[in-house]
Amino acid sequence: MSFSIKNRGGKDNPLLQYVLDHSMREHPVLKNLRLRTMEDPDNAMMVACEQSQFMANLAKLIKAKKALEIGVYTGYNTLSIALALPDDGVMVACDISEDYANIGKTFWKEAEVEQKIDLRIQPAVATLDELLDAGQAETFDFVFIDADKVSYDAYYEKSLQLLRKGGIIAIDNVLWGGKVLSPSPDDAETVAIDKLNKKLNRDIRIILSMLTVADGLTLAIKL
Ligand code: SAM
Ligand code: CA
Repeated sequence: MSFSIKNRGGKDNPLLQYVLDHSMREHPVLKNLRLRTMEDPDNAMMVACEQSQFMANLAKLIKAKKALEIGVYTGYNTLSIALALPDDGVMVACDISEDYANIGKTFWKEAEVEQKIDLRIQPAVATLDELLDAGQAETFDFVFIDADKVSYDAYYEKSLQLLRKGGIIAIDNVLWGGKVLSPSPDDAETVAIDKLNKKLNRDIRIILSMLTVADGLTLAIKL
């Protein structure tokens, strides 16, 4: 049976359908959370499932124990990464919306990973500052940045401090639907993403890849 991507124009994208049919190993609870998220009017915000699986595989590859997600929404990726962490792993999950996160909580519980997820409902910058103040610099293995785009640079700088050497920061939507090709000066989100893309290309604190998966995913690995 083929992997349903109705919400992503699957009928018009047979190659993506092929990729999903030949690579997705979605945990049954993740599948249920994805289907539940599709009932939400804001479902376009959800991470691409193949991208989430890729990031979970990366987290496993580097034996991540401590992860951070900036922008949780219904918690599909939070669950995906939490499943990839060991039993004593921790996922600090940041969002400003309790309502969105509440959708995910039931599924985190069902998948028996809720004890790994430390959900913090407040502006993510405040949570990152709290983590730094609590002496957690250089302790995180994996970070996913996916909240409000105008704050991306602040998230990147604080995450880089929280990350250990060899850890990975994954930054979502770095192509922003193609708008980065010609950012309009009054489009603050595109300007912020393009500015960070340019900065990262010159940043000697990291090694870098920009992937064309979904809406563009940058991987920054701390040197
Ligand atoms: N990573 C999610 C997933 O796996 O499906 C998708 C995240 S969605 C694109 C962006 C989220 O960022 C929303 O849930 C929104 O409430 C949250 N957000 C927006 N501004 C924020 C802020 N200042 N601090 C923390 N979260 C914020
Ligand atoms: Ca995103």
